[in-house]
Amino acid sequence: MGIKRILIANRGEIALRIHRAAHEMGIETVAVHSTADADAMHVRLADHAVCIGPPPATDSYLNIANIISAAEIAQCDAIHPGYGFLSENAKFADIVEAHDIIWIGPKPEHIRTMGDKIEAKRTAGALGLPLVPGSDGAVSDIAEAKAIAEAAGYPVIIKAASGGGGRGMKVCNGPDQLETLIQQAGSEAKAAFGDATVYIEKYLGNPRHIEFQVFGDGEGNAIHLGERDCSLQRRHQKVLEEAPSPVISTEERMRMGEVCAQAMRDMGYRGAGTIEFLWENGEFYFIEMNTRLQVEHPVTEAITGLDLVREQIRIAEGRPLSVTQDELEFKGHAIECRINAEDPFNFAPSPGLVTYFHAAGGMHVRVDSGLYAGYKIPPYYDSMIAKLIVYGRTREGCIMRLRRALEEMVVEGVKTNIPLHQELLRQDDVLNGDYSIKWLENWLEGREV
Ligand code: ADP
Repeated sequence: MGIKRILIANRGEIALRIHRAAHEMGIETVAVHSTADADAMHVRLADHAVCIGPPPATDSYLNIANIISAAEIAQCDAIHPGYGFLSENAKFADIVEAHDIIWIGPKPEHIRTMGDKIEAKRTAGALGLPLVPGSDGAVSDIAEAKAIAEAAGYPVIIKAASGGGGRGMKVCNGPDQLETLIQQAGSEAKAAFGDATVYIEKYLGNPRHIEFQVFGDGEGNAIHLGERDCSLQRRHQKVLEEAPSPVISTEERMRMGEVCAQAMRDMGYRGAGTIEFLWENGEFYFIEMNTRLQVEHPVTEAITGLDLVREQIRIAEGRPLSVTQDELEFKGHAIECRINAEDPFNFAPSPGLVTYFHAAGGMHVRVDSGLYAGYKIPPYYDSMIAKLIVYGRTREGCIMRLRRALEEMVVEGVKTNIPLHQELLRQDDVLNGDYSIKWLENWLEGREV
């Protein structure tokens, strides 16, 4: 069924991103916004806009009743949730479909399965994805937990089944601490997520974060779009992402990508998904699957030439995947820098009035951002204000172009982490692609001394 009008249940650069894909397909857009976002670019560019509540996200961007009402009033036939907010809320997806509105996202049952980490791990294992050794489900009995930890080998990590955003995890170095840490993790998980269930995994010492982009049509056809390396992280938040990963060979990409695509075929997965792995010494270990579009999807777009939002919309309309695996080519190299309004080195948020803004430009340079001079960055939401995505035929060329683009980019009135990215792109380890998920935090610590 052809979609005519999409409600975009999000804000910021991702709302713009969806608007752009929709307009290029001849589809109208309806923006929703909190009172704090009345002047935001996503509201200005959309065909229609509906205010859905006061600034706190719980009262606006997470307010299901108001969003559904907005969709009804504005006569939308589809909703795109973007990332974050309601994008992985299976109940919201159910409600959207119950209102005969097209949900531009995976089947609600798959969102639900992958949202519970234990269920997700069990499903991934059954689908043939390699897992981090550990408990087969929840742990409650201490003797059993000790046996599991012993078998996996210390250190182990205790994780909350309902955890997310890098929270609710405890590393345990030996059997003496195990009981205390399991209890602590359980009560913290109960407080944060309303669910005390925890499980145990082997703690990998120095892995990379490598994720595969997948797409399914919901009818048993699926493809993979290669991997992204998102190892440069601080507090489990990605800072810079690249595709392809500097450590994955073409053979490895095609082998592991096919394992992921086959898993999606077996599930009958619909829409965009990301299968996240930790990678150490040549081995992949599944950690979770995100049933939505990712912030870093443009690096995949740059090396495949495919518009991932367009693909999502097509699938939601019931059309087939626009490319076959054989038609897909991975060309060149792309890197994304997340530009945040924050102090570049102590990371204190820096919202406020943007007095001047000049985006970088030139060949193979893309800036996804709703920023403009005179815009006031509200303090209520994520600090990410722009994404700079640069493509090059080689990784080296990409880095040279990225440095040039960062030099050009000007944001005045607030602090940004542009200086952090500039310094990162002068570090030998980054230039050599020689970094793990620990690298950035270790480097920041050393830098302060
Ligand atoms: P969340 O859903 O909270 O993001 P993940 O399971 O994706 O949780 O893990 C977040 C991060 O925690 C990973 O990117 C990695 O840095 C670290 N982590 C998770 N599991 C392990 C593990 N078994 N060994 C080492 N680090 C881990």
